[in-house]
Amino acid sequence: MMFSKKLTSTFAEHRTPFYYYDIDLLEKTLQVLRKESDKFGFHVHYAFKANCNDSVLQTILRSGLGADCVSGGEVQKALDAGFPGSRIVFAGVGKTDEEIELGIDASIFCFNCESVPELQIIQEIAERKGKKVDVALRINPNVNANTHKYITTGLEENKFGISISQLPDVLEVLAECANLRLAGIHFHIGSQITDLTSFRNLCTRINEIQQWFRSRNISLEHINVGGGLGVDYYAPDEKPIAEFAAYFSLFNEFLDLNPGQQVHFELGRAIVAQCGSLISKVLYVKNGLNTDFAIVDAGMTELIRPALYQSYHKIENLSGQLRNDKLAYYDVVGPVCESSDCFGKRVELPSTQRGDVFAIRTAGAYGEVMASNYNLRGKVRSFTSADLLKEKA
Ligand SMILES: *Cc1c(COP(=O)(O)O)cnc(C)c1O
Repeated sequence: MMFSKKLTSTFAEHRTPFYYYDIDLLEKTLQVLRKESDKFGFHVHYAFKANCNDSVLQTILRSGLGADCVSGGEVQKALDAGFPGSRIVFAGVGKTDEEIELGIDASIFCFNCESVPELQIIQEIAERKGKKVDVALRINPNVNANTHKYITTGLEENKFGISISQLPDVLEVLAECANLRLAGIHFHIGSQITDLTSFRNLCTRINEIQQWFRSRNISLEHINVGGGLGVDYYAPDEKPIAEFAAYFSLFNEFLDLNPGQQVHFELGRAIVAQCGSLISKVLYVKNGLNTDFAIVDAGMTELIRPALYQSYHKIENLSGQLRNDKLAYYDVVGPVCESSDCFGKRVELPSTQRGDVFAIRTAGAYGEVMASNYNLRGKVRSFTSADLLKEKA
């Protein structure tokens, strides 16, 4: 069991719900990631959109990763947190003029560009500012990530990226853009990818695309392969750290690089998912006609993934585990007025009572950042292991 008796009773003393971040686990995860990526000299950017909690960001900053941002707000957050502009990449299909200006003023490492009109606007703004800007083309590799359809991004009919067949036109446009420098190519095929063959297919496709650039005598300084490495939502205690060794060595083995070419990664979920839990208390146990409901004080407003992607999160009744109560089945639901506000159906849990502390596991990625105040619910706090023990309830 991940949570000690002491931690469980500390949880019980605090007003719930709240996000709990295990910074020790995050540090261990980052150590493994650095060890496995450094072996091949790979550069890793942390995908800010997965979690922008200050304690989490500071831990990641200390480990030396760069930042991968998808909005001006994230670029500003990265700068404020202390990430140097030279280690910030900026992707997104709909960058506003203000966001582009912010990136140019901060001399970010690279804009990952997703369309011709975007290139033209960046050129216009760069010219006005008298700056030279590095861009990478986000290419749609048409590789299936075998993941939920809402989080697959690399198929042909997708709003992201530029399709391969349009590359000749894009290069013609780029030739007219005196203030842009083509520094690399960028890919991102989706998220929560656990079958590594998808990444292998991506490598094959990248090699073909590189061949195409070589035949036109265009040398690219870097290849950015994006992120998407998945975690084990079913076994957060047995597999707390993602398969970094297999993941990085796959790219080392299958990518066919030019001499001196850099490889960049943008990982979000694999870094932060397992260190976070959503801690909640049972408000009521309601016995329905055929179903017993454990109604908890957290809802889709704090963790929308089950409602949005039908995703699984392991749910634990920490109080019931300590009592060693016999098991029963519950639908674990939140208080929000939507039927989809359900964390799990027929979850086997120790016999549950009002006030029991629940942990919804693997909530560190795409949890707090997606929180809303729907139903005018209040903003939820977050605690790290250290400040939870200091803080008053
Ligand atoms: C979301 C995103 C990532 C990170 O995805 P994870 O699945 O969290 O690793 C990386 N790159 C881009 C462009 C993204 O949009």
